[in-house]
Amino acid sequence: MEQELSASQIQALETDLRQLKQDLEGLLDTTESGAKPVTLRDNTGRLSRMDEMHNQSILVANRNLTRNRLKQVLVAITRVDNDTYGRCTICDEPIPYPRLKAYPEADMCLDCKGEMENG
Ligand SMILES: [Zn+2]
Repeated sequence: MEQELSASQIQALETDLRQLKQDLEGLLDTTESGAKPVTLRDNTGRLSRMDEMHNQSILVANRNLTRNRLKQVLVAITRVDNDTYGRCTICDEPIPYPRLKAYPEADMCLDCKGEMENG
């Protein structure tokens, strides 16, 4: 059995979540111009078109990861508001604080996450 989170731990994690939300939104803002379709950009640099398309595909993939993480962060913030934050969405056990400190948007305990990933 894991320990329930204390009110002050949840508060600290909520602060982390809001900071993370800001960071991720900032990241999406600063990478936005680079994610425009290649055909709409000047191609005067030293990069060949293939290189540029390749770089862009990496950038777009990173942006998708960032956007997905932001979505999870937003869901986690909603769960703080609903008082369901910090519990595994599968088995309803409390998620250990160190795990939430590392991934404040986590919505599954390691056991359930491991099972999801390993089938
Ligand atoms: Zn679980």
